[in-house]
Amino acid sequence: MKRRDWIQTSAGALGGAVLTGCATVSAQQPAQTPFPLQVPVVPIAESTQVFPIHRIYCIGRNYAAHAREMGSDPTREPPFFFQKPNDAIQYAALGETIDHPYPSLTKNYHYEVELVAALKSGGRDIPASKALEHVFGYALGLDMTRRDLQRFMGDQKKPWEIGKSFDFSAPMGPIHRVEKTGHFTQGKISLAVNGVVKQNADLSFMIWSVAEQIAKLSEAFELKAGDLIFSGAPENVGPVVRGDVMLCKIQGLPDLSVRVV
Ligand code: MN
Repeated sequence: MKRRDWIQTSAGALGGAVLTGCATVSAQQPAQTPFPLQVPVVPIAESTQVFPIHRIYCIGRNYAAHAREMGSDPTREPPFFFQKPNDAIQYAALGETIDHPYPSLTKNYHYEVELVAALKSGGRDIPASKALEHVFGYALGLDMTRRDLQRFMGDQKKPWEIGKSFDFSAPMGPIHRVEKTGHFTQGKISLAVNGVVKQNADLSFMIWSVAEQIAKLSEAFELKAGDLIFSGAPENVGPVVRGDVMLCKIQGLPDLSVRVV
């Protein structure tokens, strides 16, 4: 049986499932599976609810100075995106310093502090003027990067997924409802390692705003509730080693503290 036939047959057999391109399961009539599989979630601040994660999108080179330090011209390049698997999230509870595992295969492991937008709805071809209506809330996150592997693959014109999309590569704090925080178009964003400030910029320096990122992404993908968008890192990315503690800040959100172990 061709895979496409199987998917459609499975979706039909599940009953009540919506055909979205892959087989899905309805909550009312769960299917029997040979093993359990859970949807990754992130806690919602000041709530007993958690936010289920659909996809994790990341925008590349969204601050001019960072684009230059990565070797590209920020004035000419349209935004580009990559994804991390939705179970790449490592949740960092407020007021704690979490232990973050130094990953395999790298000798140049980099931090990138980023604002994360969480979507409560989505669609295709969303105009930027309507884009922020889809935002559920915001969080502080890290797009951790095996820089040597990213560069090695990029130099060979191969996908650099291995540099970006590995286990635990997306530490983040809880999601704060937009009703509490408002939208983030400006405000300080910074990261310090062992008390020494490394990244220090302002969200207003983004080349593409969160609204524009949603608009651009929705031209390429149908965005959905549960999607996270890592909105890019300011300049002065750099390495950490085991024992280092990263303290991340965005004006208007609680700090995020991560120890590399
Ligand atoms: Mn990034």
